[in-house]
Amino acid sequence: MSYKTMILNRFPELYETGIIRFDESMRLHTSFRIGGPADIFCTPHSVYVMAELLKFAVSSQIPYLVIGKGSNLLIGDKGFRGMVISTLMLNKIVRFGTSIYAECGATLKDLCDLAQVSGLSGLEFASGIPGSVGGAVFMNAGAYNGEIKDALSKSMCLTRENSASAFPLQFVPLSNLDHLFAYRSSILSRDHLIHLYSVFELKPVPPEDIKAKMDELDAMRSSKQPLDLPSAGSIFKRPPGHFTGQLIDECNLRGHRIGGAAISDKHCGFIVNVGGATAQDVLDLIAFVSASVRDRFGVELEPEIRLIGEK
Ligand SMILES: Cc1cc2nc3c(=O)[nH]c(=O)nc-3n(C[C@H](O)[C@H](O)[C@H](O)COP(=O)(O)OP(=O)(O)OC[C@H]3O[C@@H](n4cnc5c(N)ncnc54)[C@H](O)[C@@H]3O)c2cc1C
Repeated sequence: MSYKTMILNRFPELYETGIIRFDESMRLHTSFRIGGPADIFCTPHSVYVMAELLKFAVSSQIPYLVIGKGSNLLIGDKGFRGMVISTLMLNKIVRFGTSIYAECGATLKDLCDLAQVSGLSGLEFASGIPGSVGGAVFMNAGAYNGEIKDALSKSMCLTRENSASAFPLQFVPLSNLDHLFAYRSSILSRDHLIHLYSVFELKPVPPEDIKAKMDELDAMRSSKQPLDLPSAGSIFKRPPGHFTGQLIDECNLRGHRIGGAAISDKHCGFIVNVGGATAQDVLDLIAFVSASVRDRFGVELEPEIRLIGEK
């Protein structure tokens, strides 16, 4: 039986209401505007429904992928064989005292805006990062000397891939330290945990001071980054002791193009989709840039973006 038939038999009402769709182009769900179709694409509107979908995927051995805003993903041109779950409908954000509770699919922008109007400081660095809370915790997203780990107090996650159990998913509370945060990684990326929500502990500061800081960082970001073209942000992690953009620039690769993918003219650390780029164009450009930097400087570049799905 195909994955689609299996899921249709188990969740007919989710298909009828559009919460489950078939053959969904992942171009529509990634900031790169690249990616072939996902066999099954789901937008659960409650944690309960997400847990049911995951349980079914695990017990039926259907490969699955949980995504947020798709702003750090390169999905292959042939797409994803299995089930993609988008968290974007799980987007509740609630303030209590100096803390803010945020579900996995809430955007960092909405979280930072609530912190700002509430006069709560600690997340200003994140206001321009175009991801979800779940994606940001997974990646330990950071900018301008701030990282998610600095503001996060605790999270709730689900474990997965324990199909021997009758209930193959378990809730796992994590303290800040339990996340094992490191540069652009966390226990979520290492142990395949599913993020459900986090609580951020912030400091009272006048809202206008927070707004001024956020405006300053937003202006810096838009002066340096190619925000007018589809991309997935910095394509490579920062190698210790170097700036990736500078290394690429010194290899004379500014603007270098393969198919529809190009090294940004504005920021050499970004690959941009200048029109009709395929995942293969981006992969070829990554390989070319990595080899050029290795040959010239002996530095190994490691992709920061997540490469997923079939080529
Ligand atoms: C223009 C631009 C600028 C950027 N600037 C920055 C920056 O300054 N700093 C920075 O750190 N990043 C930056 N990024 C990259 C990206 O926005 C961040 O990595 C962000 O945290 C990714 O969040 P997301 O929701 O888009 O995750 P996605 O791209 O959807 O997913 C990324 C990874 O997280 C996993 N994931 C997502 N949600 C969950 C969940 N609920 N549970 C388990 N796993 C999950 C996915 O499986 C995937 O492996 C930028 C991107 C763009 C396009």
